Amino acid sequence: MSVVPTRAKIVIIGGGVGGTSVAYHLAELGEKDVVLLDRNELTSGSTFHSAGLVGQLRADPTLTLMNMHSVDLYRKLQTTDTPPSWRECGSIKLASTPERMQEIRRQIGWAKSFGLDLHEISPQEAQNLFPLIDLDGVVGACYMTSDGQVDPSQLAMALANGARKNGVQIFTHTRVLEIKTKNGRVSSVVTDKGEIECDVVVNCGGMYAPQIGRMVDVRIPIVPMSHQYLITDNFMEEDAPFLPSLRDPDNLIYFRQEVSGLLMGGYERKSQAWSADYNSIDDIPANFNSMLLPDDWDRFYDIAEASQRRVPKMAEVGIKNFINGPEGFTPDNEFCLGETSVGGFYVAAGFCAHGIAGAGGIGKVVAEWIVAGEPTMDLWHMDIKRFGASYKSPDFTLQRITENYEAYYDIHYPGEERKSARPKLISPVYEWHKANGAVFGEKASWERVNYYENNVGDDTKRPQGWLGKHWSSAVQVEHHATRNSAGLFDESSFAKAQISGSRAAEFLNYVCANNVVKGVGKTVYTQALNSKAGIESDYTVTQTGTEKFMIVTGTAFATHDFGWLEKLRREFKFDNVEITNITHDLACFGLMGPNSRSILQSLTSTDLSHSAFPFMTSQEIVIAGIQVRATRITYVGELGWEIYASINDGLNLWQKIVSAGKDLGLIACGYRAIESLRLEKGYRAWAGEINTETNPYEAGLGFAVALKKESFHGKSACIEAKEKQKRKLVAIVFDDITSAPFGSEPIRINNKVIGRIKTGGQGYTINKAIAYAYLPIDTCEPGTAVEVELFGRWAQGLISSEPLFDPTNERVRL
Ligand SMILES: Cc1cc2nc3c(=O)[nH]c(=O)nc-3n(C[C@H](O)[C@H](O)[C@H](O)COP(=O)(O)OP(=O)(O)OC[C@H]3O[C@@H](n4cnc5c(N)ncnc54)[C@H](O)[C@@H]3O)c2cc1C
Repeated sequence: MSVVPTRAKIVIIGGGVGGTSVAYHLAELGEKDVVLLDRNELTSGSTFHSAGLVGQLRADPTLTLMNMHSVDLYRKLQTTDTPPSWRECGSIKLASTPERMQEIRRQIGWAKSFGLDLHEISPQEAQNLFPLIDLDGVVGACYMTSDGQVDPSQLAMALANGARKNGVQIFTHTRVLEIKTKNGRVSSVVTDKGEIECDVVVNCGGMYAPQIGRMVDVRIPIVPMSHQYLITDNFMEEDAPFLPSLRDPDNLIYFRQEVSGLLMGGYERKSQAWSADYNSIDDIPANFNSMLLPDDWDRFYDIAEASQRRVPKMAEVGIKNFINGPEGFTPDNEFCLGETSVGGFYVAAGFCAHGIAGAGGIGKVVAEWIVAGEPTMDLWHMDIKRFGASYKSPDFTLQRITENYEAYYDIHYPGEERKSARPKLISPVYEWHKANGAVFGEKASWERVNYYENNVGDDTKRPQGWLGKHWSSAVQVEHHATRNSAGLFDESSFAKAQISGSRAAEFLNYVCANNVVKGVGKTVYTQALNSKAGIESDYTVTQTGTEKFMIVTGTAFATHDFGWLEKLRREFKFDNVEITNITHDLACFGLMGPNSRSILQSLTSTDLSHSAFPFMTSQEIVIAGIQVRATRITYVGELGWEIYASINDGLNLWQKIVSAGKDLGLIACGYRAIESLRLEKGYRAWAGEINTETNPYEAGLGFAVALKKESFHGKSACIEAKEKQKRKLVAIVFDDITSAPFGSEPIRINNKVIGRIKTGGQGYTINKAIAYAYLPIDTCEPGTAVEVELFGRWAQGLISSEPLFDPTNERVRL
């Protein structure tokens, strides 16, 4: 029996494709003091029973790049002495509905911006490549030559071998029983073979990851879901050309060749969680390794039937093997990656049945994250910190996972909303909104008003294609009311934190790129940068006392942004700084528009004139007899205030403002109007135009960086970014407002693809469609014509100087 060392720098828990890939990439980055532990044999979790399909193109650009890295790596491993049986057989995706064909055309567009070889093929060409299919109902198809398949267990072994050769020590049949922490960081891992002191622990436990997370009181919202496929008897000619894999998402099925038979699986409409239910967290038996679940033919029946319609041979051939294996799914079908709230405790799990395709890329980005201490790509969609406290509930988590699993192959249109587990978190004005025709959206489990259906507008601006699907004419009505009179927005879901203590000012001026200590009552927009000058967060900071500040950030970013603050406080030893999440204590209403001053003034004796209450200042005042904090600020490009009141006063205050504004054209408005207004004004959104991969200068936010400050986190990288700017965020406008991109579409100049759209939408005041994109610096001149591909058609756009609306800021400083 091998004995585990008493110390290692990094301990990886789990020897599936996730753990072995993280180990492989850490070793490649020069980390030699790495130990990998598995409670059983390598690959004995979900990996050994995987179907092994490797597809690269995904809706998320980062994930696509990660999967492309996987393919490069599997090709390379194929040339080693432990090849993983990588077979670059290509893949076909069928469209069995016109909507799916639109999706395919859109994906072909994205693929161009990645240099991926995805192209449209006719149904007949699809059949030539995969002769077993019946073409009934097939509208079209696409084909990617560089997709493939791999043997999952051999892949894990190849990665483990590569890691071992570079110094990683691997111990199987070594179970982690406990993880110890000291001062908020991991300090050791206790196994049944001894204790290992360490600096970093990587939880690569797949579906077991939540159990491992519980050892340090970290919630990892993953549930093992039963996933099934079958393998037919061999029936094809030995010398027949090897088939590409085939996905027919409209029929919820996939195929790949297995020896000279077929492997066929799918995503059934009625899913089944394993070892977890609505009232209890996952509890996988201690001996569940190298095991499968009992066949569940009832649940597979519809899939089997669909497979016979598409490939009639399926009705004739015998079945050699039926697999029902559990796999860890997350509430949004994206991975759980990154450092958790416990310092040095990382997770790389919850691969949602695309862990084989993802493993290469996952290992790379997680290893880089560990070495750098921060992500090296925009990994927000996969960051464990995207999950808020609501996911502590097993019921909420499972409802979300079930909804996502069952919609795995569905087309997801922009503006689509979740249906399950709602409402979860509500503002004090929720019932009022409901009674007044609100159509709600959900963000980070908060119910928020998208728009009010009573605000009926004209339908002529409905966007063509997908963007028109969940569009409402009410948004333009609310947009115009805010520009011309006043709009009232319920922003109570904003994440809010109080930072206090004797070193609070010093701490915030270290974390933030801007100078945020300008005196009590001053509000500052700032970014918090990582050490590469990537934007980790952006928010406003208001100094509310000599040793007290309030941070306000986006609804979805509480765990992420406040987690980053906690991390820097811990790592840079800022004692005497307290970070308190006060999100649920305060309601917040945005009163915006040219009439906002008159409305608010009618409710308070405080002088609200520009000289008495300047832009970017904040005061505690009384409105309609209610004590509030009012901050003069805007995210829509108009005169306005954000008003913070105790949650208990929220409804009363809202109603008072609504009645005060009745004769001044005030209407209640929703988040969709904010989006249109801010796009016009060019205000950036984190996870929209800016993220950890973008720096302030290329994002046009250099004005918010105080380079004169002696130091702040990321300063030296920031100076370099300023000097060596290679690309720039530009606004692109389209004369036809119904012709709007919404993200990832390729952009070309003179027939050469030079980038892809980040965000897009409609600007109702300028009456144009708007998009933002990072383009090479030499192509950014305003007036430059570009083309953007919308569902296979190239739309003409123009790079325009920013902001598109009110360039002199007159309206904000009224
Ligand atoms: C039926 C099925 C078909 C699939 N098909 C595909 C496909 O076609 N393409 C694709 O890309 N993906 C597919 N997947 C998904 C893919 O198989 C998984 O995403 C992947 O294998 C997960 O790997 P992992 O390393 O995260 O987890 P696992 O392989 O489960 O590894 C986790 C390891 O952690 C170990 N462990 C747990 N607790 C402890 C502890 N306390 N101490 C020490 N060790 C511990 C376990 O023993 C286990 O070996 C499929 C999955 C299923 C179930």
